[in-house]
Amino acid sequence: MFDLFNRPGPCPCCDPAMAGRRQILKAGIGLLACTAIMPAGAMAASLPSLRRLRAQRAATEDVFDGVYFRDGKYDREALHKLDWVFRDLNAAEVTPIDPRLFDVLNAVADRLDADDPYQIMSGYRTPEHNASNARRSRAVSTVSLHMSGMAADFRLPGKDAFGIARTAAQMQMGGVGYYREGFVHLDCGPPRRW
Ligand SMILES: [Zn+2]
Repeated sequence: MFDLFNRPGPCPCCDPAMAGRRQILKAGIGLLACTAIMPAGAMAASLPSLRRLRAQRAATEDVFDGVYFRDGKYDREALHKLDWVFRDLNAAEVTPIDPRLFDVLNAVADRLDADDPYQIMSGYRTPEHNASNARRSRAVSTVSLHMSGMAADFRLPGKDAFGIARTAAQMQMGGVGYYREGFVHLDCGPPRRW
């Protein structure tokens, strides 16, 4: 079954030309396999000690609204709930999302002074789902940070997509993609923009 709302559209985050792609994927996989999740070193220093996120899945209306990081560590129960919101809707299982993605989203929402929850269109994608999309569109690569649980495509009510992308790019916290269809891609890979 192919879900319209979960369709990623073109996503050059998957572009093979992106620097350090293999290292990114290795790092992502390594993190997911790790039982003790620690905040990203360089980024953690500038992040607040209490981190909230408001995110709603556009297609299912699953919602997370709460604190996911406090007292120097990620809240595992909150992460599980976020994993559910950011899951691949075509998959039977929920896969852990890299929590640094939530830090990027948290920081961008804070900078934008956003009142409304992120409307998540696509989060984690299984390799099968991504390959299926890649067959449908040449703009979708066969390699994507979505497959490492490190990326999300979203809209943010009341905020212009181009403005979101511009602000996020200035923050240099990860990859930023702007799409004319009115949505934005953010990831916790190396800072870059398209
Ligand atoms: Zn994307």
